[in-house]
Amino acid sequence: SEAASRGARWAAAGGVTDADKDWQLSMLSELDQAMADGSLWVAYQPKLDLASGRITGAEALVRWRHPTRGFVPPDNFIPQIEARGQILELTLHVLRRALDDAAGLAAAGTPINVAVNLSATLLGRAGLTDTILQALADARVAPDRLTLEVTESAAVELKGDIIDALEQLRDAGIRISVDDYGTGQSTMSYLKRFPAQELKIDKSFVQAMLASSSDQILVRSTIDMAHELGLKVVAEGVEDAATLAALSACGCDSIQGYHIGRPMPFDDLAALLRTEDTAERQVA
Ligand code: C2E
Ligand code: MG
Ligand code: MG
Ligand code: MG
Repeated sequence: SEAASRGARWAAAGGVTDADKDWQLSMLSELDQAMADGSLWVAYQPKLDLASGRITGAEALVRWRHPTRGFVPPDNFIPQIEARGQILELTLHVLRRALDDAAGLAAAGTPINVAVNLSATLLGRAGLTDTILQALADARVAPDRLTLEVTESAAVELKGDIIDALEQLRDAGIRISVDDYGTGQSTMSYLKRFPAQELKIDKSFVQAMLASSSDQILVRSTIDMAHELGLKVVAEGVEDAATLAALSACGCDSIQGYHIGRPMPFDDLAALLRTEDTAERQVA
């Protein structure tokens, strides 16, 4: 459609065209409505545990199906929402949806861990831990069923209050994951201080590892180092069986990517988990 191609041009231009400066402003006022009417919704992408061959988790990824602009990717509205200080509202919307869905999966006999992306800019906010714990209690989901993915590059300034917030969340039993690992300015001392249980290797390294031996070395040594530090490793952006095999040979714990499943509506994830469960029972 005309609207969709306009949206695509806007996305391709990185959101800087004159005609769309208005939209950058109006987008923020449209956010409440979009959350209320369901045009802002949550997709889930499965995480496959390589040791068991089972889907043990899923990442919640926000989607915006705009009434006139078509699909707007999160990279084209999350930064604006962060800059305007409205990211808490969006995060809590996604978190509550994800926790309700996690409770639904547990009730259906297919429990998994759900991962929600947490903007590092929220980590300094007073009361964040209490708000998240309240959301868990409201949904009757155990804290260890939730992972919070924090992007490394944004959190790289590990000030005392940010570490305190992460430690509070971890001590409450929530899993903390370092997202997009390798793209930021991370140092070893940074990783040592980051109170995480999981490290996600950025897809840029994963997607280069078959063609480039240096990328393969980086991936393998990152996995070894993470294991030495007691972290589980997830590789994101796995698009084919050959990459899965290479990661498995490097000792990677879990993988996520189009090869396993694209981000999908909740009903599709629930069906996938039911099918997996039935298939296993038939084998047993
Ligand atoms: P991310 O957390 O690193 O999520 C992974 C991104 O890689 C997702 O893009 C996902 O759709 C994409 N991806 C997954 N598998 C593959 C693959 O095999 N190949 C390729 N080429 N891509 C793959 P998406 O959904 O566009 O999200 C982009 C980013 O937006 C996310 O990166 C995350 O940082 C942010 N984001 C998404 N939802 C939320 C949210 O609810 N809150 C916050 N704060 N950020 C969010
Ligand atoms: Mg993520
Ligand atoms: Mg990532
Ligand atoms: Mg990312």
